[in-house]
Amino acid sequence: MKLDNLTLQTPYLDLDPIFYHEVSPTGLKNPILVSYNPEAASLLGLNPELLSAGEFEALLNGSLTLNGSRPYAMCYAGHQFGHYVPRLGDGRAINLGWVNGWNLQLKGSGQTLYSRQGDGRAVLRSSIREYLMSEAMHALAIPTSRALAIISSDENVAREKWERGSIVLRLSPSWIRFGSFEYFFHTHRFRELESLADFLLRESFPHLLDQEEPYRKMFREIVKRTAELMAHWQAVGFNHGVMNTDNMSAAGLTIDYGPYAFLDTFESGYICNHTDHEGRYSYDNQPRIGYWNLSRLAHALSPLISADKLEMELDRYGEYFTGKLMDLLTQKLGLDTISDDDGDLLKSLFSVLENGRVDMTPFFRTLSRYNGDKAPLLALTLAPNQLNEWLIRYDERLKRNTSSSSERHEKMVRTNPKYVLKNYILQEAIDLAEKGDFTLVNTLLKIAQNPYDEHPSYERYAGPTPLHFKNLKLSCSS
Ligand code: AMP
Ligand code: MG
Repeated sequence: MKLDNLTLQTPYLDLDPIFYHEVSPTGLKNPILVSYNPEAASLLGLNPELLSAGEFEALLNGSLTLNGSRPYAMCYAGHQFGHYVPRLGDGRAINLGWVNGWNLQLKGSGQTLYSRQGDGRAVLRSSIREYLMSEAMHALAIPTSRALAIISSDENVAREKWERGSIVLRLSPSWIRFGSFEYFFHTHRFRELESLADFLLRESFPHLLDQEEPYRKMFREIVKRTAELMAHWQAVGFNHGVMNTDNMSAAGLTIDYGPYAFLDTFESGYICNHTDHEGRYSYDNQPRIGYWNLSRLAHALSPLISADKLEMELDRYGEYFTGKLMDLLTQKLGLDTISDDDGDLLKSLFSVLENGRVDMTPFFRTLSRYNGDKAPLLALTLAPNQLNEWLIRYDERLKRNTSSSSERHEKMVRTNPKYVLKNYILQEAIDLAEKGDFTLVNTLLKIAQNPYDEHPSYERYAGPTPLHFKNLKLSCSS
């Protein structure tokens, strides 16, 4: 299908006008296509090969309007670093409409009613990071928004220095945030709060529409999806960095990629966001913050669901989180079933990894081919004796496994990625892109989409992170 054949719907605009602000995108000077993503195109039913030259640029830059599109920004609030901010909203994102289950949204396409002091722009660096990481997370089977394409430009955007303005077209089954509910609750607009709950039911939980207590059941699912999302992040070593309630998807997806990072050496207290002085959003705090954010959402839903029921649903969070985490981590170890003592085995592994300053991703990948020869694993740690002792326990545990070692290896290399997009790798692509060379962005897209495969020319990205790039902190300004 070509772009002309795509027809968008805008069900969000059927809500009361207080929910949104209709606004047209403001284009950038001399837009140039950095990359497009054929996988995301096919989600929309598009065939990129049928597109004429310049069509992606025009779509992202707002000069090509899709059938049915009526651009708008969404209103929301949120708790930022624990403090309530009564009005946020899409300050630099503009929604184009919905098709095939996906809401299309431009990020960086100019000011809206909700821009406050902001310029409505995104810089190339942050757009590349969002574009590549959302695809990487999808390939790791972690619920996430997706991205269709990205443009750069000659537009100067002021951050700590001048940077190139850029726009990314991102896709999500839903852009409703915890903060969307908070906005209507804290302004005492309970009728609108109910309309939003009905909208979210239709958008992301249609199977609950004709059930009894649909709001309560929806909240239950949001609790479960959020808990499971946290388990995914912990298991793969992902630190989101800005888990404000306005960045929490009510559909349980990873959204709003900012100063995120994959752990290099395993460091449980790692904080990727350099403005997060207290470590509120550190790696090991993420599950607790997920719960705290859900408690804010519960409060916002209190006009629709009784307090005791909200509490009962929230109470399930720990069970959902631990269940999913154990499931994911025992799979990472190649275990067929979960035994009572596996929690302890895993706990001691993570302390061995931390004590030995072990890079998590290459460790699990190397473990995937472990056949009794400990040398390749011991080479990854500064505390080989501890790891050696742990491996003796692991050997014992493997004796209770029913699958053969070759079956285990086979499963583990499909569970433990060879490639994750660490910050230093992304930075190489960004440095080149800022000079106008987009080849590495496009190469990383392919690697991100196939993280379990071998990419022999990029073997260097699969090893431990070079020392001087380890566990850096990133700026929030994007
Ligand atoms: P974030 O931390 O990027 O999720 O953004 C928090 C809030 O600030 C959201 O309401 C954004 O829309 C808004 N915002 C961030 N950067 C800008 C910008 N450059 N221009 C306008 N609004 C922005
Ligand atoms: Mg945000």
